[in-house]
Formats: sequence, C-alpha cells, structure tokens
Amino acid sequence: MDFENMNDTARLAELLFPQVTETPDDLAKKYPPRDLPEGAKVTRFAPSPTGFVHFGGLFPSTVGERLAHQSGGVFFLRIEDTDAKREVPGAAEGLIKTLAHYGIHFDEGAVLDDNGNVTDKGIYGPYKQSQRGAIYHVYAKDLVARGLAYPCFTTEEELEELQTTDKKTEIKTRVWTEDMAAKQHEKMLAGRVFTLDEVQAHLTAGDPFVLRIRADGNPEKRIPFTDLVRGALEVPENDEDFVLLKSDGIPTYHFAHAIDDHLMGTTHVIRGEEWLPSLPKHIQLFRYLGFKLPKFMHISQIMRLDENGNKKKLSKRDMGANMDDYSRMGYAPACVCEYVMTLLNSNFEEWRTQNPDAPYTDFPFNIKKMSASGCLFDFDKLNDVSKNVISRMSAEQVLAAVTEWALQYDPDFGALLQNHNNVALQAFAIGRGGKKPRKDLATWADAKGYMGFFFDELFTMQDAFPGEFARDDIKAAINAFLASYDPADEMNVWFDKIKAVADNLGYASDMKAYKADPAAFKGSVADISMFLRLALTGKLASPDMYAVMQTLGADCVTARMKNALAAL
Ligand code: GLU
Repeated sequence: MDFENMNDTARLAELLFPQVTETPDDLAKKYPPRDLPEGAKVTRFAPSPTGFVHFGGLFPSTVGERLAHQSGGVFFLRIEDTDAKREVPGAAEGLIKTLAHYGIHFDEGAVLDDNGNVTDKGIYGPYKQSQRGAIYHVYAKDLVARGLAYPCFTTEEELEELQTTDKKTEIKTRVWTEDMAAKQHEKMLAGRVFTLDEVQAHLTAGDPFVLRIRADGNPEKRIPFTDLVRGALEVPENDEDFVLLKSDGIPTYHFAHAIDDHLMGTTHVIRGEEWLPSLPKHIQLFRYLGFKLPKFMHISQIMRLDENGNKKKLSKRDMGANMDDYSRMGYAPACVCEYVMTLLNSNFEEWRTQNPDAPYTDFPFNIKKMSASGCLFDFDKLNDVSKNVISRMSAEQVLAAVTEWALQYDPDFGALLQNHNNVALQAFAIGRGGKKPRKDLATWADAKGYMGFFFDELFTMQDAFPGEFARDDIKAAINAFLASYDPADEMNVWFDKIKAVADNLGYASDMKAYKADPAAFKGSVADISMFLRLALTGKLASPDMYAVMQTLGADCVTARMKNALAAL
C-alpha cells in the first residue's frame, strides 16, 4: 500500500485498520446473491441471547417463518451477541430448542450440533455476530477511506458525563433548548476535526476510540418510507454521528444489522417496533454502504390488560411472557401456534372455521392483515383457541400428550395413565369426533381435573349434592337406579330406566311437561341424572354419563353408588 500517495481519508483508514486487507468487493464475492425463485422471501430471527424466548419473540419469528416458507424462501437464525455483558450462558441453545418446540425451524444459521452446541449451517455465516468482527472491520475501513466515518477518541466516561449533564438539564428545564442542541452539534462537529498526527499520537498512546458515522442528513427533511405493517411513513434524515464500532471494536446493532442483512441476503427485516426510531440511521447506513434497502416490517408490542383494565406492555415478568412456562402449564405447542396465528392475522379464525382439519401452515398468511396497533395477549382467548385445537385431536394423540406432560410435571398421574392405559384412552374418547366435539381441555394440566375420577385413586367428591333436594330422594333415586341397572343395556334402555326412576319419585321424566308446570313436580329427570352423576364422578359436570358408566364398568359403578349412599 502506497501510504504517501493516499488521500487523507485513505491514510486515516490505514492508520485505524492496518490489519484489514480485504475490501467490500472481496466480501461481495464470498457472499453472492442467493439463487432463489422470483418472490421467495429471505427472513431471519435475530435475537440477542440474553435470556428465555419471550412471547413477543415468538411473534416475529412466526411471521418470519411463515413468510419465508410460504414463498419458497429461506428462514435463518442469527445470534446477535455483541453485548457480552448482557449475554446469558446457554441462552442461545435454549432459544433454538424452545423455538423448535413451537415448530419454528430454521433452514440456515445457528443450529445445534449432535452434542447440543451451537454451530453454523449455511454459507452466509458465521451466524453469530461475535464471530463476524473481521467482516465489520472491512466495511468500517471502507467507510473511513471514503470519508463517511471517523474515529472519536473521546473516552466513554467523557461521553457518559456529557450525556448525563445534558439529561439533567433536560429534566430540569423540561425542554431541549436550541442552545443545548447547538452545543451538542458543536461538540459533534468539533469531533470531526482532527489531524492525522493527532490520530497517530492517540493510537501510539493506546487510546481507545469509537468509530462514528459522518452524518449528512438534514432532520428538517423527510424521507418517504413504506413499512409493510405500518404503511406509508415519513422519517427524518439522520444528522446524528452515531457509533458504528464501540471502543472494543465491536459493532453497534445498527452497523451489524446493515452489514449482516445485506450479506445474508435478507429480503424482509421483521423486528419489534422499538427499532422504528432508529430507521433514519439504518437508511443512511445502507446508502453509505451502497446496499439495497430490504423491506421492513415493524411488529407491534404485545399488550396485556392490567388489573384496572388498562393496556400495558407484556413485560418479561408477566405471566405468559416466558415461552418455557407454557410447557409447564401444559399448553400444547400446536395450541400456542394457533393462538399466535389468530393474533397475527385477523382472518385466521374465519379460515379455521372453513378448514377445521388443515394444519395452520396451510393458512395463506398475509402481511396486509396484520394489525399495526398492539396485539392484546389474553389467557382466556388462548384457552378458547386451545380447547378448539385439542377438541380436534384424536383420543390417542391426547392420551400420548397428557401422559408425556404428566410424566414430567405430575409423575403420579403419569404413572396412573400408563397403568390404566385402556381406561384413559376410553375416557379421552368420550365426546370426541363428530361435528360437535367436547371442548374441556385447554391444557394437558386440565386433564386430571377433567377425567381423574375415572381412577379410584383420584376420585373425590368435588361437588356436594345440592341442599335443595331431600336426602331421601337422592338415596331413593340411587337405590332405584341400582335395582334396575344392567351394564348390558344399550343407551336408550338405560335412559328409560332413569326416567322410570324419576316418575316413581315424583320427578318429571318429560322435560316439556316439567317446563310447562314445574310446581307439579319435585324436580325433573335432569336432577335424577345429576344425583347419579355426582355419585359416579363426584362432579356436577362430566362427559356423557352413559359412556362414563361403560368405561368404568359395572363393579366400579355399583361401588361408587354404594359409597355415595353410605356418605349421604
Ligand atoms: N437483536 C435485536 C433484538 O433482539 C434484533 C432486532 C432485529 O431483528 O433486527 O431486538
């Protein structure tokens, strides 16, 4: 390199980055454009490994996954681990596993090897930003050489001090005065002026520096911009000499985002709306770097209702935020995904009604149907969706899932299900299939309360016999039922016998007659059934009683009735 013949900015670049020998052109060759069919979208999920997967993270990742796979494109995972201080060991591994649990599979990027360690898959890597330092420095050097970035030797402490002083004044006066803005601007401009000798002296002294962009925008001017979720926007030009490389040489989010998404061929950047205010910076960076701007989708935050009915951001500590909690609570991934789809696309539920058995991945996900205002997270809605999903599953599927869940979170119940596999399967089969399946289970954890009574080990009188009925009537009804009970009876015969019990005790066997003149009866056949149901299941509500009796078998039915009589 002929230092003497270089212009000042090229010399500066050489002084700052002597170790960088590659050029942006070299990198462009290493990362050729992707060979994909027309319209194929390349999307990514780019989390920072700072903890668990948040419900708000499942959102953009589902969008990314759907858009890529629906269009025959590529969905990849990039680990944004440039902030070592905030990194949580094992978070990246946990994140990959959790997302896989929810059916979010990546074609490329950071994946787990056979030993469970994070490794790269694909030719656009490395996919961990901490391993891409050399790449960022190539572009940093290029920007400096072209006069578009410059070093700033102000120490972190000095900068921090500057910021806090200004912030304090800001709070005190409540206005950011023009004078303050001017001072800030002056300081910024002053930072742009230096000689190569000064830089050399700093470097020789080992002084740290940050690399700043040399902003050229006029914030009075607006750039028209279309966000695919939010529609047409106008963003101000950027006039802030923001940091590209921190003093340890590590890039800021802005710099890494522009370079990575360009080299990795991202067509659609899907990210949280908290990045929207940074867009002016990104637009400027892409322009300086000579990169085509990808399409952007800024996804709204997930909200929840607080105790007073006000909308609040779903924060990390809120119930429902940590995706790993859902497994413990017994939510099936399929149910959670279905719920996410209902939140993401306003027409999903209508589609589901028309396509009850199709996998949710058949739904034509549409960006235009996404809401630009915050989606409301709501357990009641999740439970409703979940009940519907589970009602469409087969008894075998339900039993397998409940058993797997219980073995982990309620081992005694798990063992019971395994030991009484047949009864459990029959129990889950009751009311399943057909046009109007029962919708009792929202989570696998609900199963015990729903069908635990099938096992003597779990049977308890959860509900009491209602006080308004004479104990003698209840006893008489149970005794009369037992006297005529024949497990071989088919359903109509069985029910006719219960009606006969009702008639004999002065309870209406005909509901119409009862409704026409309730005072003429002590009650109805529905009450007689309720007595039997309580004796049999310990609960006021249960699946179809005939089917329950068939499943329990004559010995158990008789024993339960006798126990109830003894307790009455
Ligand atoms: N690491 C950033 C975050 O977690 C990624 C934002 C993006 O998707 O570009 O917020």
